[in-house]
Amino acid sequence: MSVRTDPLSYLADEIEELKAKALYRPLRVMSGPQAPHTIMDGRPVISLSSNNYLGLNTHPRLVDAALRAVRELGVGSGAVRTIAGTMELHVELERRLAEFKHVEAVLTLQSGLTANSGVIPAITGEGDLIVSDELNHASIIDGVRLSKGGRAVFPHRDVDQLDRVLRDARDKGGPGGPYRHVLVITDGVFSMDGDIAPLPGICEAAERWDAAVMVDDAHASGVLGRNGRGTIDHFGLHGRVDIQVGTLSKAIGVVGGYVAGRRHLRDYLVQRCRPLLFSTSQPPAVTAACIAALDVLEQEPERIERLWANTRFFKERLQGLGFDTGISETPITPVIVGESAVAARLSERLFEEGVFAQAVVYPTVALDRARVRTIVTSEHSRDDLEACLAAFERIGRELRLI
Ligand SMILES: *Cc1c(COP(=O)(O)O)cnc(C)c1O
Repeated sequence: MSVRTDPLSYLADEIEELKAKALYRPLRVMSGPQAPHTIMDGRPVISLSSNNYLGLNTHPRLVDAALRAVRELGVGSGAVRTIAGTMELHVELERRLAEFKHVEAVLTLQSGLTANSGVIPAITGEGDLIVSDELNHASIIDGVRLSKGGRAVFPHRDVDQLDRVLRDARDKGGPGGPYRHVLVITDGVFSMDGDIAPLPGICEAAERWDAAVMVDDAHASGVLGRNGRGTIDHFGLHGRVDIQVGTLSKAIGVVGGYVAGRRHLRDYLVQRCRPLLFSTSQPPAVTAACIAALDVLEQEPERIERLWANTRFFKERLQGLGFDTGISETPITPVIVGESAVAARLSERLFEEGVFAQAVVYPTVALDRARVRTIVTSEHSRDDLEACLAAFERIGRELRLI
C-alpha cells in the first residue's frame, strides 16, 4: 500500500508564512465566564477584548430565563424556522425587538453574520446595485458577494462620494441599463475603529437618489441611543432607515442576529433568506435569555451610563499618555501602532503583565494600521482601568510607542 501524501500540506506552508509575518493568531482559551477578571491560558488577566459591553452574559435574570426555558422546552429547537422550528419564544422575541427598535417587524436569525450574509442576497439580484462603505464588516462583504447584484464601494464615511456614486448609478445605470434597486449599506459603529457612521447624511443622499438604506448596528445596540436602541435612535432617524441588522451576541450578552424593518421585509425574508430556510433556529434558552436582556436594558439604564463613564475615562487617559487612538467615538478604542509585529508585541507584553487586549492585524485592518483593540465594559471598576493604564504606560515606553 502506498503512503498517500497529504493533499492539504500547503495549509501548513501557509501557516508558516503567516507566522513569519506576525499575522498568525493563536486562540487563547478562557477558564470561567467572560468577565473583566478572567483566566486566559491559565493566567489571571483583566480583559479588554470582549464585546460583552454590559456584562449581561452572567446577569441573573438572563441565566434564570435560560434555565427555565431549558427545563420547560429542552435544549434544541429541532428544526428550521419554516418547517417546525418556530417556537412561541421566537415570536415573542421578535415582537419585543420590533418594539425596542420602533419598527413594524423583526426576524431573528442564528447570528449577526448569518443575518448579513442572508439578507443581502435575498433582497438584491441582477440589475440591482449595492453600495457599501469600504470598512464595512466582513459579514456584509460576504452578503454582497453572495448577491447577483452589482457592487460599488464608497470611501469610509464619505457622504459626498456616496452621493456621487448614487447619482452616477441613477444617471448612467449599470451594464444592463438603469438599475432597478439601489441599496446603501453601512455599519452603524465600525468595529475596528469605533467611529460612528454619518447616518443623517447617508439617509439624505439615499433619499435624494431613491436608494434603500441598511445599517448594521452590531456594536451600537445596547450602547448608543435611548436604552441602547442603537444609532438610528441616537440620530433620531426612525422611519428613514429601511433595514436594521443587529446582533444578540454583543451587548445583549447571548448569541443571535436579527433584521428589523417593515412588515413586508420580514415576510419576504421568511420566503427567501437562506439561513432561515436551511439552518436550525435558535435554541429556546438562547431566545429566552435575549428577551430577559431587553427587560434589563429597559430597567437598568445605569449599566449604559457606567459603560460611557468608563469609556470617557479610559479613552482620555490613553490619549493623555500619547497613544494614537484614531477616530473612536465609542467604547471601542484602538491603540494604533502601525506594523503587525509591533501590535503583536504590545499585546504579548500586556498579556505578560496581566492585561488581555488582542492585537488586530491584516486582513482585518489595513497592513500599516495594525493595532491593539480595547473595549471597556460597564463592569470594569476604576481600579481595573487604572491597572490597565499603568500597564499600557509601562509597556508603551518600553516599546517606544509614547
Ligand atoms: C460582530 C459583528 C457581526 C457579527 O455578529 P455575530 O452575532 O457575532 O455573528 C456583524 N456585524 C458587525 C458590524 C459586527 O461587529
